[in-house]
Amino acid sequence: MKKTVTFQIAIDGPSGSGKSTLAKQLAKRLGYVYIDTGALYRAVGLFASEQGVSADRPQDVVPLLSSCMLEMRVIDGGNTVFLNGRPLGNEIRTETISRYASQVSKVPEVRAFLLETQRSIARVENVIMDGRDIGTVVLPSANVKIFMSASPESRAARRYRELIAKGERAVYADVLKDILWRDKNDAEREIAPAVPAEDAVLMDNTNLDIEGTAEAAMRIVRSKIPVK
Ligand code: C5P
Repeated sequence: MKKTVTFQIAIDGPSGSGKSTLAKQLAKRLGYVYIDTGALYRAVGLFASEQGVSADRPQDVVPLLSSCMLEMRVIDGGNTVFLNGRPLGNEIRTETISRYASQVSKVPEVRAFLLETQRSIARVENVIMDGRDIGTVVLPSANVKIFMSASPESRAARRYRELIAKGERAVYADVLKDILWRDKNDAEREIAPAVPAEDAVLMDNTNLDIEGTAEAAMRIVRSKIPVK
């Protein structure tokens, strides 16, 4: 039987660096499946909070994982995570659940629990995955690895504008504080810290708009994989 060749693009970087916006743009241009791995960590964070696990004791979620069934479905190019059959929406995007996600993501058993879910999708489809450890751990042989960054202030300003546009109440200083907390928590954890893979291309988009970021990324992609 002929083996199907699939291509993998890994996009990593800190919160608010524009990974998901870029990944969605590239997925559309290339006809690849976009996978938002942060949504899986957020789903485990929501599960932990609903089970009464304290955000300060994320390891307490481990014995409960056997009753946490997650499924990722790609619907109209977007991702929906199902937690025990329940589709999750904006409830995984709150600041509280962002913190829970960052806390549970430090637990080795949680990372192991989500690893196969992520890899199994990449085996059958051409994928663009965004996360923190895609190029280093999940897809170490990815054809293209991009590590995005932008100054904390510009990431906080983007996140702040997003929240205001959604009609939510937000204070810029609090958004910046949250971004700095998550940067530190994600980059300093012992397991799969959010750092660039040795063979990743670094992209700072502090001064690039969405279109400029996508163009720069497409040049990197074209140099590494065949693009129609
Ligand atoms: O990307 P997003 O902000 O939605 O991710 C939520 C949290 O999930 C991150 O702060 C990080 O702690 C964790 N995460 C991770 N590894 C990934 C994706 C997300 O540890 N591949």
